[in-house]
Amino acid sequence: MSTSVHETITAAPAASCDAELAEGPWVFDLVPGYGPGASEDDVIPTPVVRPGQLPVAYQQMSDDELHARIRAAKETLGDRLVILGHFYQRDEVVQYADFVGDSFQLANAALTKPDAETIVFCGVHFMAETADILARPEQHVILPNLAAGCSMADMADEDSVEAAWEELMELYADEDQSELASVIPVTYMNSSAALKAFCGRHGGIVCTSSNASTVLEWAFERGRRVLFFPDQHLGRNTGKAMGVPEELMPMVNARKPGLGQDPQTLLDAKVLLWPGFCSVHKRFTVAQVEQARADHPGVKVIVHPECPMPVVDAADASGSTDAIRRFVAASSPGDVIAIGTEVNMVNRLAAEYPDRTIFCLDPVVCPCSTMYRIHPGYLAWTLDGLVEGEVRNEIVVPDEIATDAKIALDRMLAARPKGA
Ligand code: SF4
Repeated sequence: MSTSVHETITAAPAASCDAELAEGPWVFDLVPGYGPGASEDDVIPTPVVRPGQLPVAYQQMSDDELHARIRAAKETLGDRLVILGHFYQRDEVVQYADFVGDSFQLANAALTKPDAETIVFCGVHFMAETADILARPEQHVILPNLAAGCSMADMADEDSVEAAWEELMELYADEDQSELASVIPVTYMNSSAALKAFCGRHGGIVCTSSNASTVLEWAFERGRRVLFFPDQHLGRNTGKAMGVPEELMPMVNARKPGLGQDPQTLLDAKVLLWPGFCSVHKRFTVAQVEQARADHPGVKVIVHPECPMPVVDAADASGSTDAIRRFVAASSPGDVIAIGTEVNMVNRLAAEYPDRTIFCLDPVVCPCSTMYRIHPGYLAWTLDGLVEGEVRNEIVVPDEIATDAKIALDRMLAARPKGA
């Protein structure tokens, strides 16, 4: 196994994008914001960012003691517990996961463990919400550190989306809606349960980075245009790959009068983009792709579609975390592959395929700062709670939200690629 990102950061903080990441996450968990490593452009929606709290005793435990506690609790709880680890989670935590995957794979993987009373999701807040929506009512879902949010998901809050929706409905009021709705809301999986419910209520749907084009096809069969949130890059990259001209994909800004666009632009639009982005994937640049090609002639470059469009255009391929994993699995010994996604996943692939040269396009080590907040201390504390009969940091989506959100998720599951 290669050196983990956590070891790199704590051993040589100067090599990381922010030396403060060498601190335990409890140091910044109580401070509003996304913590060290987050993009400087991140707006901090104070009511959305959730505080985390770890008892001091766990903050002071040695790594050995924390790991011994996690192992003991896992053994005691047996099949009553399932631990899920996202591809972007640090190795120190992922080693305990029963399943490793992307957010939707993991929520579904949990369903294959019907005896599990508790699902511990080592990912971020929206992932635990999705798991709770899909889980059986009697199952508990735990997010070990409540401060593990997702800055992108928080960039689209329910009030702003509702406000934008009302403006659009007013603008499109004169359109004939008998055959096609004026606009279909599409939310990326990386969004709150409240926004998934909004889509469920308004004839909309959820998408992942694996099925975004299938979902947009589904939406265009039912509407003239799509309102896509929160990630502008996934929306733009997917629309472009489907042949939608860039000028028909304007951004809407709920904070600006008229959504920041002239009415004709909104009337002509095919894909209305929300101005959200992922702090991790927005770091990748065309210059990095060019540098990789200069340093490694013959390198294959694959990036995640949350990267800006010029980066996706400059790469050889783009795809979801699972597509990246399959791309590497299909490569040959001796191949050189540069990857534009979160560094924990890249390092894990490099360790899994030592006969290939696999590296992250971004030379500065920078993990997803929110996911990084799931320190082994939080995992030990929540598992110890379960052994003692206490469910700590449970994520519960209210029934009325879960019901509508499930409608949008079920539409996604039923959507099929054209011709399938
Ligand atoms: S990698 Fe980006 S989109 Fe994924 S959880 Fe982290 S901030 Fe959110």
